[in-house]
Amino acid sequence: MSGVVARNVTKRYGELKALDNVSLDFPNGSFFALLGPSGSGKTTLLRSIAGFVEPEEGEILIEGVDVAHIPAHRRDIGMVFQNYALFPHMTVMDNIAFGLSVRGVSKTDARKRVGEMLDLVRLTGLEQRKPRQLSGGQQQRVALARALVTEPKVLLLDEPLGALDKRLRQEMQIELKQIQRAVGITAIFVTHDQEEALTLSDQIAIINDGQVVQIGAPGEIYENPVNRFAASFLGDANFMEGLVENGRVSVEALGPIVTSSALPGSRVTLAVRPEKMRLTALSDTASDGNRVEGSVTQRVFSGTSVTYIVETPAGPMHTFQQNAGDRMFDAEEAVAITWSPDHTVLVED
Ligand code: ADP
Ligand code: MG
Repeated sequence: MSGVVARNVTKRYGELKALDNVSLDFPNGSFFALLGPSGSGKTTLLRSIAGFVEPEEGEILIEGVDVAHIPAHRRDIGMVFQNYALFPHMTVMDNIAFGLSVRGVSKTDARKRVGEMLDLVRLTGLEQRKPRQLSGGQQQRVALARALVTEPKVLLLDEPLGALDKRLRQEMQIELKQIQRAVGITAIFVTHDQEEALTLSDQIAIINDGQVVQIGAPGEIYENPVNRFAASFLGDANFMEGLVENGRVSVEALGPIVTSSALPGSRVTLAVRPEKMRLTALSDTASDGNRVEGSVTQRVFSGTSVTYIVETPAGPMHTFQQNAGDRMFDAEEAVAITWSPDHTVLVED
């Protein structure tokens, strides 16, 4: 059964469609990321599921039940926000126990439940602290424990790691995923960070302008983006405009480009991921099926990898090489870029 289903959901703010006929199926127990730029409608969708926003059209089902007439506090949902939203004057213990005391759970049972939650989020021993006596990461773990303590059907997370610095953020990503697995809860996670979406999720929905652009597993979407937006929002891509003739595609100034896909219509847009391109010296004549010559205009060294910007007859292209100890290319050096037909992806404009 699906944990949550959104069916043809539309939400308007005046003229603006914050959600435009959104249909999504969040499988039970899955970690599902809503990925899109700021203002694309991610929070509106999350708040519609939670019951804080009322869409004009469409349905939302939680474990098969249409929740249109169920108020937010009875939807059995746990929420975590970027700004923690902990009660500042209450201890860690009381913050986590809050949802239980509202539900009339006895003090003894609540204490036991909170103990289990503290264990789960690795905060045992800190129950008497106040939020201001905790680090950002610890506060976010309290927020997570508070959201999970009532054993909700769904966990909604709105950019929960946005306020943390990079290293802590990466640690928390791994921990969040472990906790979600351990609890087995359906989690819907909003982020504008592509790497975070790739790392954490079983499924990703790419959202833009209130519409779902593409849905799939991280690898699926990454390797087969449907359009320019998906290709450039989830990762980086080199685009080429091609003309199709007699089943072959050629790109102006480059000539024929080989693809593994069938070529529809007469004009196509091709996308190639930077890490799928191999950069070689011009004298190296090996081709992986496609070969374009150019000259290096920039080299960006980032430790584990090197990104080159190469000027080609079809404009600048990005290539990405692992830093495996190979010789690096210099600015203005003449080079060739090669790639396989399998990595030439046809995308919609
Ligand atoms: P995201 O979370 O992806 O950044 P939001 O869902 O917050 O995007 O917002 C989607 C669009 O709806 C934005 O253009 C935003 O300005 C607009 N919006 C959100 N909430 C309101 C509101 N309460 N009143 C008017 N416009 C809103
Ligand atoms: Mg938002």
